Amino acid sequence: MDYIQQVLTQTKEKNVSEPEFLQAVEEVLESLKPVIDAHPEYQKLAILERLIEPERVIMFKVPWVDDQGQVQVNRGYRVQFNGAIGPYKGGLRFHPSVYLGIIKFLGFEQVFKNSLTGLPIGGGKGGSDFNPQGKSDQEIMRFCQSFMNELYRHIGPDVDVPAGDIGVGGREIGYLYGQYRKIKGAYQNGVLTGKPLAFGGSLIRPEATGYGAMYFAEQIINEKNDTMEGKTIVVSGYGNVAWGVCLKARDMGAKVISISGRDGYIYDEDGITSDEKIDFLVKIRTSNDVKLEDYAKEFGCTFIANQKPWSLKADIAIPCATQNEISLEEAKVLVSNGVTLIIEGANMPTTKEAIEYFTSNGGIIAPGKAANAGGVAVSALEMSQNSMRYSWTSQEVDEKLKQIMINIHRSCKEASAKYGYGYNLIAGANIAGFEKVVEAMVAQGIAY
Ligand code: NAP
Repeated sequence: MDYIQQVLTQTKEKNVSEPEFLQAVEEVLESLKPVIDAHPEYQKLAILERLIEPERVIMFKVPWVDDQGQVQVNRGYRVQFNGAIGPYKGGLRFHPSVYLGIIKFLGFEQVFKNSLTGLPIGGGKGGSDFNPQGKSDQEIMRFCQSFMNELYRHIGPDVDVPAGDIGVGGREIGYLYGQYRKIKGAYQNGVLTGKPLAFGGSLIRPEATGYGAMYFAEQIINEKNDTMEGKTIVVSGYGNVAWGVCLKARDMGAKVISISGRDGYIYDEDGITSDEKIDFLVKIRTSNDVKLEDYAKEFGCTFIANQKPWSLKADIAIPCATQNEISLEEAKVLVSNGVTLIIEGANMPTTKEAIEYFTSNGGIIAPGKAANAGGVAVSALEMSQNSMRYSWTSQEVDEKLKQIMINIHRSCKEASAKYGYGYNLIAGANIAGFEKVVEAMVAQGIAY
């Protein structure tokens, strides 16, 4: 059995109950075959086994009191996956589907993503099975405070720097930071990113993931001697990433025609292009009283219940909701509707079978670890600004973000070509992300 196969078999045995983590590991290992062939010394160093095992997994109890005075108990997680190139960095996800396997898969992806940014950040991820939907502001605050009562022991500006993800935005980061500051008795705002501007947040951070995905998409379109002008884009989700995609698509002369949630999707034939429409996405995300369906009533378009938007005719698909949201059947529909490009705004939104079908039918996929890296890249810029006690202008941050996305695309393209994959951005992202982390791991000896 060759080295990769051996590691894959072991990983399956050890992590049977974590399918999302296995899926992420399998995809990476498949891409690495030619790199491992070129570096037989990695087997003796157990590089792959060390890369797949998180440096540290922290699980903890989060008790809190709801508005009725009832005590509730959730489970909290922080997985510090790999710190070879910098402090652990990655978001916190608050969603009922969260369990250890989800956090491990996200943390593993984050190691490669953060490496691709070219910035000094290691990979980690955390969260809780707490469901913020329908909770009052006070309940959210009490939950965040209780979560931080344990998390503070494990984080710090040079140790581990969490940020937001699904269910965690500026409001939650604010409550988390307030509690951290109270416990520590010190103003260390570099401990969290995605902060509101008033206490050290970066301009462009809320927009960064969506903007970055569009800059990455533009690079691919330019490869085909085409431009973004006039392109039609089908998007899933209505959250932070989807919102940033709508904004930048409009700037580029393209048009987003859908958004979606768990309960269905909106089809807006005219495009989600006006300020009013784009601002409405923020209302859906932040208000308990505004629902996705209300967008259709407000702007006179269609809400299709209990379906995903992938049957719409478009040029580009940008999934911005969650993992495994494009199945094989949905990939077939995308191809038959003329979609030639999937930009993964979310993490691992396309299933393995869907990737195989889409790419073998001429489609290009920009993997999340590259295409959605703009968010964490600007988070790293936020850390720099906090340590300099200085703020760059929106334009400065946006220019840096654009250049980072251009560099990531170039790294993926070059790594893919170097190892005989042609223009395969999935293989290229895995290889380019791997090379830098492994160089640091080897240089640091058998520490982790
Ligand atoms: P968000 O603001 O909380 O929005 C999440 C969106 O996804 C909502 O529209 C939500 O709709 C939908 N969603 C969540 N779970 C779903 C499910 N099980 N089925 C269908 N729809 C679901 O989160 P976000 O920050 O935009 O993150 C979206 C994705 O991008 C995630 O995969 C995240 O890991 C990834 N990402 C985010 C960033 C960032 O900077 N925020 C950076 C890199 C990657 P409902 O409320 O109806 O469920």
